[in-house]
Amino acid sequence: MAEALSINNVHKRFGETAALAGAAFTMQRGECLGLLGPNGAGKSTLIRAIAGRIKLDQGQIELDGLLLDDSPAAVEKRRNLGVIPQELALYSLLTATENLRAFGSLHGVPSAELEDRVNWALDWSGLAPRATEPIKDFSGGMKRRLNIACSVLHRPAVILLDEPTVGVDPQSFERIWEMLNKLREEGATLLLTTHQLHEAQRYCDRIVIFDAGRTIAIGAFDELVQRTVGSAEKVVLKLDRPADATLRQHAPDHASPNILSFSVQNAAGELPAILEAVNATGAKVVGLSIKEPTLQAVFIHLTGNALRE
Ligand code: ADP
Repeated sequence: MAEALSINNVHKRFGETAALAGAAFTMQRGECLGLLGPNGAGKSTLIRAIAGRIKLDQGQIELDGLLLDDSPAAVEKRRNLGVIPQELALYSLLTATENLRAFGSLHGVPSAELEDRVNWALDWSGLAPRATEPIKDFSGGMKRRLNIACSVLHRPAVILLDEPTVGVDPQSFERIWEMLNKLREEGATLLLTTHQLHEAQRYCDRIVIFDAGRTIAIGAFDELVQRTVGSAEKVVLKLDRPADATLRQHAPDHASPNILSFSVQNAAGELPAILEAVNATGAKVVGLSIKEPTLQAVFIHLTGNALRE
């Protein structure tokens, strides 16, 4: 069976700027893939190229095994895409229901199905109680939910989301992910760009790291950790006095002589022995934290820079 989406050596220049410079990856059906990268890495350009809004200079994009070129078959195939841009595209004087009807028709939902789909979308997005109000008074989070709903009424198999949760409050963040997870349960394939590492780590099956228009790494979070920073955890202890010199040699920390930082493979298993060794020196532990490898550390390892969230 063909891959849901296949990106093969894509290139796109804007004047002197190489926005895409050989990016490549594939997506399986039903997968949720997070596209991460610093500003200007080419993420939005790739989403726009998949959606057919810009033309590539080189390389191919295939949707469900079909090359997305200018052919009538490709134009028809693109109907299987749902594209959710970053900026809201809604009619502010219309109600939620009216917006959904308008976008449903635009996306070719047959009129016999339209009312069912609109009702489904209102329930799914939690907007049913506000269905008949003009949306100009909706909160930012509600508008964003409606924006997403308007783009999936035609049941697209592959959904492209450009920073779907940027700038929303924590409650809206959770609600948007409830919506997206429901789509996944129904079999949709999701490709999303994000700046939020915790979002990619928590919700994406795999992560693609983009830099300067290229794919520099792809894998599940655990695989990326193994391949880059390794899976060691850090046990950090704060003591009531400067640590014993021998212990400090084993577990140095640059922040303070009162802090010990142990690199361990299994924090839960190794912690009792560590605490015993510290107690034996007469020091008291006044603070303890265990730090697991983060996507930020992976990102720094691969790109040399932190990703600003
Ligand atoms: P990202 O989404 O990762 O922040 P973009 O795809 O928006 O990156 O941009 C990649 C590069 O291409 C940037 O240097 C950006 O300034 C440039 N770029 C994107 N779109 C255009 C355009 N329409 N005209 C000129 N330059 C562009």
